[in-house]
Amino acid sequence: MTDTADVVPLTQTMTGGILTEDVVIIGLEIHCQLDTRTKLFCGCSTDYRDDHPNTHVCPICLGLPGSLPRVNRKAVEFALWVGKAFNCKIAPESEFARKNYFYPDLNKGFQITQYDKPLAVKGYLDIEGDEGEKRVRITRVHMEEDPGRLVHKGGADRPKYSLVDYNRAGIPLIEIVTEPDLRSPKEARRFLNKLRATLEYLGVFDSEKEGSLRVDANISIQPKGWFEREGKGKADRGRVEIKNISSYKGVEKALTFEITRQRNLIRRGQKLESATRHFVEARGITTSSRSKEMEQDYRYFPEPDLRPLRVQDWVGEIVLPELPDARRARFMEQYCCSPNHARTLTGELKVADFYERVADIDPILAATWVADTLLGELNYRDMSIIKVPYETFRSLLILLKEVSITDKSGVEILRLLLDQLKESGYCESPKDCVERLGLTVMVTTTLAETGEDPVVKAALETINEQTQAVADFRNGRKEAMNFLVGQVMKKTRGCAKPADVNAVLTRLLEREG
Ligand SMILES: [Zn+2]
Repeated sequence: MTDTADVVPLTQTMTGGILTEDVVIIGLEIHCQLDTRTKLFCGCSTDYRDDHPNTHVCPICLGLPGSLPRVNRKAVEFALWVGKAFNCKIAPESEFARKNYFYPDLNKGFQITQYDKPLAVKGYLDIEGDEGEKRVRITRVHMEEDPGRLVHKGGADRPKYSLVDYNRAGIPLIEIVTEPDLRSPKEARRFLNKLRATLEYLGVFDSEKEGSLRVDANISIQPKGWFEREGKGKADRGRVEIKNISSYKGVEKALTFEITRQRNLIRRGQKLESATRHFVEARGITTSSRSKEMEQDYRYFPEPDLRPLRVQDWVGEIVLPELPDARRARFMEQYCCSPNHARTLTGELKVADFYERVADIDPILAATWVADTLLGELNYRDMSIIKVPYETFRSLLILLKEVSITDKSGVEILRLLLDQLKESGYCESPKDCVERLGLTVMVTTTLAETGEDPVVKAALETINEQTQAVADFRNGRKEAMNFLVGQVMKKTRGCAKPADVNAVLTRLLEREG
């Protein structure tokens, strides 16, 4: 992100990147594709990603004259679960509306969405904020249909021509709007992570699918205390909406860039107009786009082809599955996980499931190795935990628990196995790997002084080589022992247990002294 780095000015009032007299105010609008089998208003399959363009279409999702939409019951059910999981008030009666505008990916000339009578309102989600636990208010949760997709041939900047694919048209979306309660790009990222986890725990969303999540972010920088005094909608300084950010990392990057840009304008005394901007992911910057439409430009009106949604009878019957917060509490209770480990392990459904498949070996050992080691190594390789066979990881944990290998060798083996998995999708068994590399822990069963035991051999060599450290030790400088132990560990490639090495060295030095 050199673009930002170049323009970040140094000021004496920066604390953690934020000017002390200013406050960053962020609100998000998140669109997630609901993971139903068929589209929102017709029977077309939603499994379109690897198929040819315009093969998952019918008169309804193409908006042909005379076709009539019918609501997908499953999509409504999923949306209700989301509303409930975000602690919203569910409206007994909600309504679909037409949002009218022209764009080539919107074949009907209007999008069916919800406007003044949304499905759910006034909820919240608790996240880990910059200053501890924090409640982010959810304004509303509503349903709408996805438009089609434009494919620009010859690059998005100057395409030679554009094609339109309606396979995506009519895929059910859930739109989640937050109050402007977030105060930093990091908080926005954590909110999105929590939101994604919640949707995945509900089983209504698949974050692995490309384009399944898109975010619009509202951001402004206001004088400290302004928001508390004025509330939203009365900005002295304009508010910028960054449209259509399509990755979790992208949201944090776009917001960070925008904070720097707005702060520079404020510093130069320029007026900040409300505007819509576009995030250019490849360059990590936002650029100016069309001026912001006003709500009245869309001429919303109730969708005449659909009856209002009456869900009162359903709501009472909804039983939500275990959600991230509940699972985190259970992990602390059932497996004695530390609060940090429990948070990390339950932050993604796949990780939580993986942990529970290996926890029986030793819950604390497993928590440390999954949360601290495995996730770090996966992140480094840009790999998902679903690529790791849990049986393989179980065998590795067993070797560690039996102290057949040292922690250091454990990390070495894990790295090798992950590299193999990344390359071919397969890996050898941890046991074979240990034998192949000769990494079995050297256990000094006898303190034989013949030099046959590998640890004793290495210790004798070290004593012969490190005469100065040996002399220091004998002169009462006990810290010289740490150095000698380190030398022996090096010779045995980390396969010896430090306690063994210490015992052998002490014994040998006592004898020779
Ligand atoms: Zn269709």
